[in-house]
Amino acid sequence: MNQPPRDQGYLDPETETLSAEERTDRLTARLRRFLTDAARGAPAIKAMLDGAGVDPGRIRDIGDLARLPLLRRDDLKERQTAEPPFGGFLGGRPGDVERIYILAGALLVPGRKSFLGGNLAEALFAAGIRPGDRVVNAFNYHYWPYAHMLDAALGRIGAVCLPMGTGNAGLLVNLMHTVGPEAFLGTPSFLMSIAQRAESLGLDPKEDLGLAVGAVGAEMLPEKMRRRLERTLGATIRQHYAIAEMGCLGYECPARDGLHVPDDVIVEVVDPETGAAVEPGMIGEVVATTFNDLFPLCRLATGDLSAMITDPCPCGRTSWRLKGILGRTDQATKVKGTFIHPWQMDEILRPFPEVIAYQAVITRPQELDKLTLYVELKRSVKPGPLLAGRLEKALQEGLAVKGEVQILDRGTIPEFAKKIEDQRTWDE
Ligand SMILES: [Zn+2]
Repeated sequence: MNQPPRDQGYLDPETETLSAEERTDRLTARLRRFLTDAARGAPAIKAMLDGAGVDPGRIRDIGDLARLPLLRRDDLKERQTAEPPFGGFLGGRPGDVERIYILAGALLVPGRKSFLGGNLAEALFAAGIRPGDRVVNAFNYHYWPYAHMLDAALGRIGAVCLPMGTGNAGLLVNLMHTVGPEAFLGTPSFLMSIAQRAESLGLDPKEDLGLAVGAVGAEMLPEKMRRRLERTLGATIRQHYAIAEMGCLGYECPARDGLHVPDDVIVEVVDPETGAAVEPGMIGEVVATTFNDLFPLCRLATGDLSAMITDPCPCGRTSWRLKGILGRTDQATKVKGTFIHPWQMDEILRPFPEVIAYQAVITRPQELDKLTLYVELKRSVKPGPLLAGRLEKALQEGLAVKGEVQILDRGTIPEFAKKIEDQRTWDE
C-alpha cells in the first residue's frame, strides 16, 4: 500500500494545515450551528445560553465562547442527579443513543458509535499508525467510552484492532509474540510492565514483540520513561491527551513539541475563576468544547493546567498546541493572578546545584501577594547578593512573577516541607 512513512504525512492534509484565519472561520461557523441545534434539543444548553444572554445564531467569533460560563464536572453531575439520566444535556434525535457510558463519579455519557473516534484518528495517525497495522488496544473496554473511541479511530484509519483491554500482561505478551502487532495503545506504565514481563519470560522485547509504535495516554509520560520504553521496545512512543467525556484534546506529532489540538475541538486556556482566556504561554485551565450533537457540552472545565503555544510546528500542522499537561488546578497556587506549580519551582532551580533545599512562601502583606523563595546552600558555597540576584531573575523568567530570594542557614527549612507554602489568609 502506498502510504506515508510513520513520521510523515497527515490523516487529513486539508484540515490539519489550514491557515489560522481559515481555521477560526470554520470553527466559528461550526460553533454557531452546533449551539443553535443544541439549544433546540438540550434544555441545559438553552438555559445556559439564555442565562448568559447569548443568541447562538449571532455568534461572530469563537472568542464569543468567553461570554458563556464554564461547565464543571460537579455541576454536570448535580444536574444529572436532579434530572436523570443526562441532566438536560442530550441532543440529537430520539433513538440516537446507542450506549450509555459510566465515568468516575457515576457521570453518565450518552454514546453513538458514529461520533466516536474522529479526533483520536488524527492523533493515532500522527503517532505513526497506518492503514493495515495491527494494533493492540489495552485500554479498559468496560464502562468507559475511551477504549471504544480508540477502537473507532482505528477503524477510521483502516487499522486492525486487537481489543485486549487492561490486565494480564503475560497473556498479552504471548499474543503479541505470536501475532506481531505493529502498534500498542495503552498507558505508559502498562506498556512498561509488558516489556518487563517479556524479559522475565526470556524474550527480547525489541526483537520478539516487534512494536513500531506505542501511542500512550491517560497518564503522565515523563521523558525518562519515554526514553526507557523506546530503548527497551525499539518503538516510537508518542502520547495523546484525552478526556473520557469528549475524546482527544491534544496529541504529539513527530516534532514532539507540545500537543496539537485536533480539528474538531475548541480548546481554551483560561483563568479558572473568571473563565477569561490567559495570554499565550501563560498557564491556565484547559477548557474544551466539542461538536458532539448527542452530548452537547460547552466549555467543559477539565481541571488540567496547560499553556497555549503559538509558534508554528515544524511538522507542518497549523493547529493550536497545548504545552503538555502541566498539573491540576487543585494542586497549583495562584500568585498575582498567575498559577505556580511545584514542578515549575524544581525546573527553575535545576540549574542551581548549589541550592540544596528550598521553599516558596506566599504571603499577602498590605493586600498584595508576595512571593518569597527561601533557599539553603551547600556548605562550600558562599551566600551573596550575586546569587540571590541570579535566583530572582530565574524566578521572574520562569514564573512571570516577581519574587524575593532569601538565603537561610542550613537546616532552617524543615525536611519534607511543602515546596510552595501558601500563608495568605482571606478571612476579614
Ligand atoms: Zn507538530
